[in-house]
Amino acid sequence: MTGTSPQGGAAADPGSPPGGCPANWCWRAGQRGPGRAVVFDIDGVLSDAAGRQHYLERGRRDWDAFFDACGDDPLVTEIARLLELLDRSLLVVLLTGRPLRVRPQTLAWLERYGLRWDVLVMRDRGEYQRAAAFKEAVVGQLRRAGLEPVLAFEDDPRNRDMFHRAGVPCVYIHSGYYE
Ligand SMILES: [Mg+2]
Repeated sequence: MTGTSPQGGAAADPGSPPGGCPANWCWRAGQRGPGRAVVFDIDGVLSDAAGRQHYLERGRRDWDAFFDACGDDPLVTEIARLLELLDRSLLVVLLTGRPLRVRPQTLAWLERYGLRWDVLVMRDRGEYQRAAAFKEAVVGQLRRAGLEPVLAFEDDPRNRDMFHRAGVPCVYIHSGYYE
């Protein structure tokens, strides 16, 4: 796959569907909704990023190397199973702080494990807000697009707290990356 969305409207006004989606949204098989959505984080929830956490150890925070290695992560099988078992009427939103430049690795990884998803939302180029602020903005975009987040899964306590403040129940997954 290329780095551009086959269906996500690249020219759309960010955050103001209908008629299009922000360019950092990638629909798997065409835009869907309105409907109820379940939001999954990727790193530390669906993917086991423990093997590349060393890039972020104190004194050498190499975020580029950390994200570049994401295509080799093992799957978190318990969460993958849960995803598979969700009711088919629910839309699956993958909302990750990964930058858009690793979309190819991310799509290849999702394909390799045959994971179910509907839309993948990544950090756009030049988007450097804190993860919780970025994800909070996306929650608003989802709602405006008619995709009501009814549940989220997160391993970052700050993102979990944001979901709760935004009125989205959030299951906290303990990855240990934030201790
Ligand atoms: Mg995470």
